[in-house]
Amino acid sequence: MGLFDAPKPVRVEIKGHTLQCVICGHQGFHRNEVKLERAGLFTSDWSDPHAICYECDNCGYLHWFMPK
Ligand SMILES: [Zn+2]
Repeated sequence: MGLFDAPKPVRVEIKGHTLQCVICGHQGFHRNEVKLERAGLFTSDWSDPHAICYECDNCGYLHWFMPK
């Protein structure tokens, strides 16, 4: 079956705007948190550097965001 392997795509809002895929206009995404490698940079105030990326459920394009 495999139905239970795939998480449901979610709608994403960024500052009150519904995220739409810039490629295909789709509004379903899979959320991923990615740890950033920051070797060589001194970011002492940034204890846990990570970015959020939303993968378009339709075409797979990745939309990257830095948490504010
Ligand atoms: Zn897309």
